[in-house]
Amino acid sequence: MKLPLINSDNLLPENYVPCLEQVQDGYEMEYHAARCMRKMICAALQNGIRLRVYSAYRSIDYQKGLFSQNIQRYISQGMTPDEAFKLTARYIALPGASEHNAGLAADITSPEWEGELTEEFENTPQFKWLSNNAHRFGFILRYPRGKENITGIGYEPWHYRFVNCVHAGHIKKLRVTLEEYLMLHNC
Ligand SMILES: [Zn+2]
Repeated sequence: MKLPLINSDNLLPENYVPCLEQVQDGYEMEYHAARCMRKMICAALQNGIRLRVYSAYRSIDYQKGLFSQNIQRYISQGMTPDEAFKLTARYIALPGASEHNAGLAADITSPEWEGELTEEFENTPQFKWLSNNAHRFGFILRYPRGKENITGIGYEPWHYRFVNCVHAGHIKKLRVTLEEYLMLHNC
């Protein structure tokens, strides 16, 4: 399976739309990822852990809307277009730069969680379960703590990327990011 790297240096084509399937409550993912996510949600439940999908596939058009709305908001607050763009880009991925745009990533939380996702998520039984088990279903913690200089993204204990079980097992064992793994394997 091809293992795409998606970030601000490696944008998806503007018209990219993956083949989607449902995962939970109307949220969708690319169909290989979706099948594994559904299995993972069921397996967690069998262990008494309820996983809630907080965000999954987001279209590039949606991402564009989000991005430009944010720029407009900053401009209306008095920033120059350049300042508004830079500040927006710090918090919102460029259209096509998000793994969510490929349907390969999901943000996961607990049913009890309220409000925005924060690092506190790492103190939940859901995070503990995901840390021990996500790789068995092909998912990796994509933006680990202490690897921000490599991924370019702050620690996100809620963001899981589908890579398949074989790659996920290797990545967990080697304790590397996807960037490092792809360098090691030249794939
Ligand atoms: Zn995410």
